[in-house]
Amino acid sequence: MRIAIIGPGAVGTTIAYELQQVLPHITLLGRTNKSIHFQPANQHIIVKDIKSMTDPFDVIIVAVKTHQLESLVPDLNRLTHDETTIILAQNGYGLRSTLPFKYVYQAVVYISGQKKDDEVIHFRDYRLHIQHDRRTEQLKHYLEHTKIELILEDHIETTIWYKLLVNLGVNSITALGGNTAQILKIPEVYQLCTRLLEEGKQVAMAEGITLPDTIVEDIMHIYAGYPDHMGTSMYYDVINHQPLEVEAIQGFIYRKARTHHLSTPSLDTVYALLRSHHSLSIQY
Ligand code: NAP
Repeated sequence: MRIAIIGPGAVGTTIAYELQQVLPHITLLGRTNKSIHFQPANQHIIVKDIKSMTDPFDVIIVAVKTHQLESLVPDLNRLTHDETTIILAQNGYGLRSTLPFKYVYQAVVYISGQKKDDEVIHFRDYRLHIQHDRRTEQLKHYLEHTKIELILEDHIETTIWYKLLVNLGVNSITALGGNTAQILKIPEVYQLCTRLLEEGKQVAMAEGITLPDTIVEDIMHIYAGYPDHMGTSMYYDVINHQPLEVEAIQGFIYRKARTHHLSTPSLDTVYALLRSHHSLSIQY
């Protein structure tokens, strides 16, 4: 099986490195030929220029940021055959249906790491949650001796919405507040975060997603366990003037709220302000 991982960042490099330890024909693709220094393994991983590749792959794991996906479509056209499985290893939702390919799966990513220039540090976890079917069952079997664990879900939408809500709360407040997780100690921010989660929960329910009644308290409890100095990806993107994955997270939930005619004042405000950060970053 020929497997490509597109996006030599924190998630993509971790997946490629772990698959290469056990399996043949694993290729990490990026914008240019280079090597990435991968920590804590202290290994160099080869990255191939995606434009130089012509032969199709059987499985492609896409680990670029959500706003970087659209420009990949011509490459995906060239690198897929009729039976290629494409896995979106990204946060957010709503992009699967924009891709003109037959077997596209949205994964929920629990792999944590950070990229700086050509160095990637993996912090923890190796899990991709994905819809259970015959195809993903075969892939899980193929990966079983690697550290990358495919968790097969009967209702992936529930897992996707859970992660969307986790990202909605803490990503929004840390990015807009310009502060790490300690921002939750400010009572007004804590309240705003709770309201965002309550609005997100209403949207999820309108979408037919079954979540525990205590989902808001549960997620606030998870945030309470975050170390004060912990930033979120959106927080780092704002302070580094990088584009934000706002359309796939807050924007996706916002548009669903409009479809269901729900009132989501906190989400509307947060989404508008994050869009402003996003458009400023593009001008940089
Ligand atoms: P990242 O470190 O920014 O990596 C993205 C990589 O994709 C970069 O190396 C980028 O290259 C490359 N890329 C962009 N456009 C490309 C193209 N057209 N062709 C080839 N390569 C391209 O991002 P990440 O942190 O791994 O995140 C990937 C996804 O996983 C995001 O949706 C994120 O929200 C999600 N996620 C991340 C974590 C985490 O801890 N990092 C955890 C859970 C979920 P350049 O550097 O040249 O732009």
